[in-house]
Amino acid sequence: MSAAANTMTTFEGAKAAEGGMLYKGMLCQPIIDKCEGCERTREFEGVNYCTSYPQPAAKWELGACNFATHVRAEVEAAGKVKINPLKASKRAARGR
Ligand code: SF4
Repeated sequence: MSAAANTMTTFEGAKAAEGGMLYKGMLCQPIIDKCEGCERTREFEGVNYCTSYPQPAAKWELGACNFATHVRAEVEAAGKVKINPLKASKRAARGR
């Protein structure tokens, strides 16, 4: 694992709470399926949470999360938001 990943936020001092965990006075909810693969997720007591947003589901309501590290949202000319998985594009670039 890289040094940068090791220094990223962990949930030190967090407490389990109903519906998620309490961290720095905020109720954080677990990540949603669309967050799977994002580097901003961290585990706390067996559940993954986002280090950037307390409510990941809300972050995806209007399209792709703008902080996601695994996908990139692109607004097409028609105004539709298209989500590009980065992993797939990296694989294509490597010729696999
Ligand atoms: S940054 Fe966005 S995609 Fe990544 S875990 Fe948080 S809410 Fe999910």
